[in-house]
Amino acid sequence: MQKGNIGVTTENIFPVIKKFLYSDHEIFIREIVSNAVDATQKLKTLAGKGDYDGELGDLKVEVSFDKEAGTITVSDRGIGMTAEEIEKYINQIAFSGANDFLDKYKDDANAIIGHFGLGFYSSFMVSKRVDIITKSYKDDAPAQKWSCDGSPEFTLEETTKETRGTDIVMHIDDDCTEFLDKNKLEGLLKKYCHFLPVPVVFGKKQEWKDGKMQDTEEDNQINDTTPLWTRKPSELKDEDYKEFYRKLYPMADEPLFWIHLNVDFPFHLTGVLYFPKIKSNIELQRNKIQLYCNQVFVTDQVEGIVPDFLTLLHGVIDSPDIPLNVSRSYLQSDANVKKISGYITKKVSDRLSSIFKTDRKDFEQKWDDIKIFINYGMLTEDDFYEKAKAFALLKDTEGKYFTFDEYQTLIKDNQTNKDGQLVYLYANDAEAEYSYIDAAKQKGYSVLLMDGQLDVPVMQMLERKLEKSTFTRVDADVIDRLIVKEDVTREVLAADRAANLAQLFESQLPKTDKVTYHVETQAMGEEAMPVIITQSEYMRRMKDMARIQPGMNFYGDMPDMYTLVLNTDNRLVRSVLDSGEEATAEQLKPIEAELRGLRARQAVLRQEQDKKKADEITEDEKADLKQCGDDIQAEEQKKKDVLAGFAEGNERIHQLIDLALLQNGLLKGEALTRFVKRSVELLAE
Ligand code: ADP
Repeated sequence: MQKGNIGVTTENIFPVIKKFLYSDHEIFIREIVSNAVDATQKLKTLAGKGDYDGELGDLKVEVSFDKEAGTITVSDRGIGMTAEEIEKYINQIAFSGANDFLDKYKDDANAIIGHFGLGFYSSFMVSKRVDIITKSYKDDAPAQKWSCDGSPEFTLEETTKETRGTDIVMHIDDDCTEFLDKNKLEGLLKKYCHFLPVPVVFGKKQEWKDGKMQDTEEDNQINDTTPLWTRKPSELKDEDYKEFYRKLYPMADEPLFWIHLNVDFPFHLTGVLYFPKIKSNIELQRNKIQLYCNQVFVTDQVEGIVPDFLTLLHGVIDSPDIPLNVSRSYLQSDANVKKISGYITKKVSDRLSSIFKTDRKDFEQKWDDIKIFINYGMLTEDDFYEKAKAFALLKDTEGKYFTFDEYQTLIKDNQTNKDGQLVYLYANDAEAEYSYIDAAKQKGYSVLLMDGQLDVPVMQMLERKLEKSTFTRVDADVIDRLIVKEDVTREVLAADRAANLAQLFESQLPKTDKVTYHVETQAMGEEAMPVIITQSEYMRRMKDMARIQPGMNFYGDMPDMYTLVLNTDNRLVRSVLDSGEEATAEQLKPIEAELRGLRARQAVLRQEQDKKKADEITEDEKADLKQCGDDIQAEEQKKKDVLAGFAEGNERIHQLIDLALLQNGLLKGEALTRFVKRSVELLAE
């Protein structure tokens, strides 16, 4: 028997492996099984080239465990190893600069394993001893048994082994016995070995017989050796893609469509990406793109490899050219990875563009489901925007779809304002904003439906990208002012009467902290509604942004601001004003007389003081003017009180305000109950 020390320059590699690789213990199975697969592939290659002409036999990799003995065994029928090969590949571990590297990457087991070619040694993360029993394909080489108990010492001796290939026997550590469990092991094999190119077998398939689960004759093969992405797209049918998707994500809905990736130059990459139909956010987090390296599962954390917006897709990417065994920050700066990311973005936009061109109807049907990806992509990747602007769609409130260009052409004539700005009208909620949408349509305007999660930032983006374009929600102003085409304002009501009218309504508006109202009067035509509530586009949008973007809380905390617009052309409004003025005429007369006198006096005082230099005005004169102003305010307050007194008892005013609030979903609770009662009483009159 031969004894020796494993050739590492650092004191002892095993404590290092155990200590630093703690979090990723389970990947030992991936390393050992993929070594077995590699050895099998190599044998096939040799046989293919005629360098091996012996019997190949059943080239499967078998994984088994023995709970009593405390072992997990991985057996292959690959090329095996001679004593010299064990010496060379197992005993001599290139291990330079180890300590520095370990310090730097101590949290990244993948990096350590990859850097040192420690695949095999990862078995020591879970084992107190590992045996290699191996017989080389070379005829005259005797079988070997190598054994190591976690110290740098190993033993190597000849042994007897009937069949060609290697058994790796891992004597599992006392604190890792959770791996000696059928479900646990099978789960790990499914995760890491699901698509390895050589059959991986874990026991026998079971079936229900004589009241219990029993082994059948059939192997329990874990993997699919020719996963879909390794096959030629021309040989595949839609059903194949759907079936593969179900295999990857058994709980997910059928995907919307998919993209088969296949590139040889300047890097190798294959894969299939699916556009999922997303029902919930949880699914977005759970089902992810899986990254493979030659069919070995590596990770489902693909951030940095595919562009951010594409991490929302599902599927697999397989590339031997992605440096997998490095840290994440290194990965993101790798030139190959950048190219890959660019390539995938291009493939995705090409595919979308081709579906759009060849089957626009299908594309439109899927739009509502895929818009989140496309919008996210346009918002985060300029390159993607440049491609996507040709097929990204806008949907109007009637369910019709338009490209950006088409829509621009559609609204150009009728929705350009006096400053040459193209005004895109939109609604967030077709039901809640129905009356405004309807009014806009009466005018021949088109209204977009912007009800997606990302529509607010998308509108900001389009305002930036498209020239002379603004987005305005249909209720941002009264219809005549939504798109101002000329500067004329038609205010037929005298200013003092308009002020009275505003007073009547203002005094009766609900008073809360969360909402503030401001009253305006406007001649909107006899046909238009008497009272309309609008909300400024700017404030509303800032609040919308605050909801999706942290750091904008300032806006989020502001009250909602609405404008109540009274239509001075409306018969009802006029009649309320007339009756209000009539009922209060007696009380208002002396106040107004007083006001007229005060205002005249104020005007004179101002005129006099304007003629003088600031330092020539005496304190008395200043006090005079101030007193006059205060008196005016006091009289105005009296007037307000008189008008409020009338409005208080006027059911028509309350009814008109409530109707406008109701139309905007702002009438709630007690106020709503009062409105219903009042309406019933009015009907009974
Ligand atoms: P890597 O696989 O990255 O080369 P490993 O530490 O996993 O590093 O393996 C070292 C070497 O040991 C392999 O390259 C291979 O030559 C040999 N080896 C490991 N497992 C087997 C096996 N099951 N059959 C034959 N050779 C093996």
